Amino acid sequence: MELFEYSQAASTEAAVKSGSATGARFIAGGTTLVDLMKLGVETPQRVVDVNSLAGKVPGIDTVDVTPEGGLRIGALVRNADLAHHQTVASHYAVLSQALLSGASAQLRNMATTGGNLLQRTRCVYFRDTAFPCNKREPGSGCPAIGGVNRMMAILGTSDQCIATNPSDMNVALTALEATIHIQGAKGERAVPIHEFFLLPGTTPHKENVLEPGELITFVTLAKPAAGTRSVYLKLRDRASYEFALSSAAVVAQVEGKRLKNVRIAMGGVGTRPWRMVEAEHVLEGHEVEDGNLRKAAEAALRAAKPQSENGFKVELAKRCLVHAVKQLVELA
Ligand SMILES: Cc1cc2nc3c(=O)[nH]c(=O)nc-3n(C[C@H](O)[C@H](O)[C@H](O)COP(=O)(O)OP(=O)(O)OC[C@H]3O[C@@H](n4cnc5c(N)ncnc54)[C@H](O)[C@@H]3O)c2cc1C
Repeated sequence: MELFEYSQAASTEAAVKSGSATGARFIAGGTTLVDLMKLGVETPQRVVDVNSLAGKVPGIDTVDVTPEGGLRIGALVRNADLAHHQTVASHYAVLSQALLSGASAQLRNMATTGGNLLQRTRCVYFRDTAFPCNKREPGSGCPAIGGVNRMMAILGTSDQCIATNPSDMNVALTALEATIHIQGAKGERAVPIHEFFLLPGTTPHKENVLEPGELITFVTLAKPAAGTRSVYLKLRDRASYEFALSSAAVVAQVEGKRLKNVRIAMGGVGTRPWRMVEAEHVLEGHEVEDGNLRKAAEAALRAAKPQSENGFKVELAKRCLVHAVKQLVELA
C-alpha cells in the first residue's frame, strides 16, 4: 500500500501551488493516473484533484465558441462531451472522430481534455516495473529496443526510447494546430501544440514542456476557413477498444479534388503526435490523384526507422495516409 495525500483544488492558483510540491500529481478523470498507480509506475506523494474546479473556474468544463469564431475547450471537458458537441462534430469532425475511436464509452465519459493530452505511453516495458525503462527511471535502459516492439514508434525515436504517444485526440489536435493554455506559478502562457510535446532524445522522461505544478486550463482551436473538411482514420488490431497501429488526421480546404491549406498528422508511428509537413507540401494546391498521394506517403515516411518487429508499420502508415486523404476528398 502506497500512502498519498489527497486534496481538492479550490482554485487554479491553489491547484498550481499544491501541484508544485515534490511528488505531486493532478488527477482529472483518473483513467491514466489510477491505472499507473495500481501498477506502481506512478507513486505520487500527493494527488491534487482538479475536478473540484468545475463550476468554479469559468470555461474549465465547457466548450465555448470564441469571439473570433474559434473554439475554447476547457481542460475538464470530458472526451464524450467534446466528441458529441454539435460544433465539434460539424466543424471539427476530425476531433470528434478521433475521440470516438479511442478507448470505450465508459472511459470517454471519465477522461478529460487535459488528461488525454498528458496520457502516458502504452509501452509494455514502461508499464511493468519488473523491467528497466529510461522513461520511468532515467539511465536504466530500454528493453523495447530489440525486444517486444511491434507497437512502438518508427519516427522520432532515440537510442534511449522508442515509445509512441498513444493518444488519438492529440493527433487530431496537431492537425488542427491547437494551442494549449497553461497556468503556472509565474502566470499564464499559451503553447502551440507542435511545441508542446518533446522528442525523447536523451531525456525520455520529459515528455512535454510543462514545468512542475503547471496546470492545463484550456485548449483553443482557430475558426476553420470556408470549405474546410477533416477526417480521422485509425488502423488497429481490432475495430474498437484498441490503440492505433497507424492513424491519420487530415484537415484541408477541398475544392473538387484540389486541396488547400493541407494539414496532416499521424498517430501510432511517432514518439509524439507526428505532423507530416513534407506530405502536406506534396499535396498543397494540387488535385488529389494516385501519383501524388503515393509521393506524399513516401515523403511522410522517408525518415522512418523501423524496429525488429514493426517494419510493417512503414507501409501501413503510407496506406493509412493515402486512404485518409481519399476519404476526405470523397466527403467533399
Ligand atoms: C483500457 C484503456 C483503453 C484506452 N484506449 C485509448 C485509445 O484507444 N485511444 C486513446 O487516445 N486513449 C485511450 N485510452 C487512454 C485514455 O484516453 C486516457 O486515459 C484519458 O484520456 C486520460 O484522461 P484523464 O482525464 O482520465 O487523465 P488522468 O488519469 O486524470 O490524468 C492523466 C495525466 O494528466 C495529468 N493531468 C490531468 N489533467 C491535467 C491538467 N488539467 N493539467 C495538467 N496535468 C493534468 C495527470 O497528472 C496525469 O499525469 C485508453 C485508456 C484505457 C484505460
